[in-house]
This record gives sequence, structure tokens and C-alpha cells, in this order.
Amino acid sequence: MQEILMEARDLCAYYTTEMYGISREVKAIDGVTMNLYRNEIYGVAGESSCGKTTLIKVLSGTIKPPLKINHGTMQYHFKKGDMDMVGVSEEDMQSKVRWKEISYVMQGSMSVLNPVRKIVKTFEDIIKTHEGITDKKAFIDRVTEHVKKVGLPPDILNEYPHELSGGMRQRVAIALATVFQPSLIIADEPTTALDVVVQRGVLQLLKEIQAASGNTVLLVTHDMAVHANVADRVGIMYAGRLAEEGTTETIFRNPAHPYTKHLISSLPVIGEKAAKTSLEGTPPNLANAPEGCRFHPRCPYYAKNAAKMERCKTEVPVMKDYGNGHRIACHFCEEGGIV
Ligand code: SF4
Repeated sequence: MQEILMEARDLCAYYTTEMYGISREVKAIDGVTMNLYRNEIYGVAGESSCGKTTLIKVLSGTIKPPLKINHGTMQYHFKKGDMDMVGVSEEDMQSKVRWKEISYVMQGSMSVLNPVRKIVKTFEDIIKTHEGITDKKAFIDRVTEHVKKVGLPPDILNEYPHELSGGMRQRVAIALATVFQPSLIIADEPTTALDVVVQRGVLQLLKEIQAASGNTVLLVTHDMAVHANVADRVGIMYAGRLAEEGTTETIFRNPAHPYTKHLISSLPVIGEKAAKTSLEGTPPNLANAPEGCRFHPRCPYYAKNAAKMERCKTEVPVMKDYGNGHRIACHFCEEGGIV
């Protein structure tokens, strides 16, 4: 039985803007129900503007206007007790959650590293803010030990960010994110800016740290190959909703939702000569998303069976568990069409 770290139920987070007296609501996250377990790497996949970034903001409690949680619950079971993260105060976020329980590895490591401060100073800033430093020698010993643990030479502590390669900087970002042994590390496209060889090393490091500490990594990337190599479970997002979720093996070997099927079938296969087909249309504008299943204007199953699948246009498909944690939100699957 896996231990739950976070349970979100029917989470809805919208961007509300007002211009010339006209209010506009962008339903970026709309009814997401999911669990994160301890000791797993959960991958979130989906094309641009599917809501991945907003999901990160919501799950990390980084919610600032015009983004607002409109509905739902999000309960964390942290090391030091449970916390309802919907409506959590900024004070609690600062003193109890950020870095200590939830930390963040971003796409461009330069955004967390101050270009005019040596790496050791960045460690000092973070540790001083969240725990205070009373003994300078103990601080240096702790940081030296920690960077060695994540496979970095201690000399890098005396370097400036620009003196390090992109891969090294990303490793430093991972070292910073793990210095307090947080329960959850959110990695947002952590290897997108790196070449493939360096990418492999950074992903391996993330995997090793996760395995050694037993914490949870939420890995967000559009790169399906990264998910295939690293994630234990994968959630596929489309237009602000989870379309399908399952073990990585299930998602890649037996995708069931028409959108997931398309994503997987569009991956290149060595030796395959046949041309890949693309989906008709573009992802919907979330300020004016289609009723019912948001995928229906592009869904090949709906297109072929429109007469008997009328509910796709009017009824939001609910996530259902088809066994072994394989959850799918699709009327066609529900009627025995695909699974
Ligand atoms: Fe396609 Fe209908 Fe399933 Fe949506 S609910 S993915 S439109 S078959």
C-alpha cells in the first residue's frame, strides 16, 4: 500500500482578468483529482498550454492574482503534520513549506542562482532565511557534504554561476532544492535547455536522489522520452484536465484515451518509415473552452462515432479507475470502446 503525500480533489484554478469592465475567466485547471505518493516520480505530460505550469503553481501553493483556486481541496501529509494548502497563509508557506517541504527545480538554473554571488553564498542565503546559521564552520561542513552527496566537486562552492557549464548549474539547482530533504521536489522542464548527453546525467542524478531519500518528484515536461525513462507514473493533461493516468508502462504500452493514443503514436520509432499523422485543429482557448469533453473537436473517435457519442459534446467525462491505478476520463472508454 503506497503512502499518500498529497491528495487533490476536484481542483479548479482560474485566471480572472477584467478589462473595460468585461470580466474574463481562463479555466486553466478544471476539476483535477489526483494523488501523489511518497517515494515516486510522477510525470505530468501534455502539449503547450495544457495547464502544466498552472498545475505546478497550484500544487506548490504559488498562487498569486489573477490566478485563484475557485474550487476543490488539496491536502498534504507532510513530515511535520497535515496541511490544507487551499488558502494556506503566506507566513506558513514561508516558514513551513517552501524549500523545507516543497522545493523547485526550474528550467533555467540561472533564475535561482545569483550571477554576482558565489554558489556557497546562494546556499548561505537559503539556509539563513529558513533555518538561520549560528555556526559558520558547521554550515560549510554541511554544504560541502551535501554537494558531494549529489556528485558535485566541493570546489564549485567557490565558483560563480557563469563559471559552470549548463549541466553543472542544473546539478547545483538540484543540490539547492534538496538541501532540506523536502517531501516534494517539483522539477519543471529541468533538462529542456540541455543537450542530450548532459540531460541524461541530470535525470540520472534526480532519479538517484529520489531513490536515496524516498521523497516524491513531480516531473513536468512535454518530452515523452524523459517520462518513459524516469517516471513511475504519468498523468496526461489536456486543456486543464487530466485525461489519463497510470503507471509509465501502462501509459506507453496500453494508452487508452484518444489523446494519449495520439501522443504515443506520434513518437518516433527506429526503423519505422510510415508518415506520422497529426491531430486536426489546435488546443482550445481556455477562456472559451468547448462544452463536454474539451477534446471532442479534435477527437478521432468522436469524429467517427458522432451520432452515438452525443454526450462527448455535452457531458464532462469523469476520471474512472480501470484497475491498477489506470484512470481515464473518456465516455468512449467508459462504454467499453477502447480499454
Ligand atoms: Fe473523444 Fe468522447 Fe472520449 Fe472525449 S469523451 S476523448 S470526445 S471519445
